[in-house]
Amino acid sequence: MSAIAKGVRKARSRFGGRLEPFFRLDLVLYEGRSDLLTVTSAETVAAHPRLREHAAALDGAARACEAVARIFDDGDPHAGVYHLLANELSLLDRDPARAGRANALAFRLKLLLAAGFAPQLAACAGCGEREHLVGFSGAAGGVVCGACEASAFTLDEDAHAFMVAALARPLAEAPAAEPRALGQAERAIIDTLEHHAHLRLRPVGSR
Ligand SMILES: [Zn+2]
Repeated sequence: MSAIAKGVRKARSRFGGRLEPFFRLDLVLYEGRSDLLTVTSAETVAAHPRLREHAAALDGAARACEAVARIFDDGDPHAGVYHLLANELSLLDRDPARAGRANALAFRLKLLLAAGFAPQLAACAGCGEREHLVGFSGAAGGVVCGACEASAFTLDEDAHAFMVAALARPLAEAPAAEPRALGQAERAIIDTLEHHAHLRLRPVGSR
């Protein structure tokens, strides 16, 4: 939703500096004749002050918000996505050292799941084979076996394991992985989004 807050730059604004990025707020919005709603009151639910003191956490928060806005731009409510984002912001605030590539990729995998694009990871997306899964194909929609790998790229076992664990565990317990595995997991997410949502997100960064 898009909304406007009037008089927010005045020193005595009733919003008192609450309408800042990455605040979680309880807003009252007024729907007038314009396309923009008007903010009539704002109460802070969580200000996330520690998140703001760490460049990596700020960057992770910005990319998380951007990914949500790009994938879910239909204006419909998505309670699961809202809670996932609230959880990510609160995690980055509680433990800013967690910001980094593994956390960002785990978040995106959960976002894919919420959007209905979760990649198939348990068996070959082409033929259902459960062994010898050697690649990932965005077109096929998940991991593929040696016989079905035409449009796939190589997916190592540890990249596969990272994706399975990142989807299965809470965000705060997302696994770590080597840069090579994280690179493959990121490519899998990118290919999935390109094929199923026709959009490309900014890379998660190299930390
Ligand atoms: Zn196959």
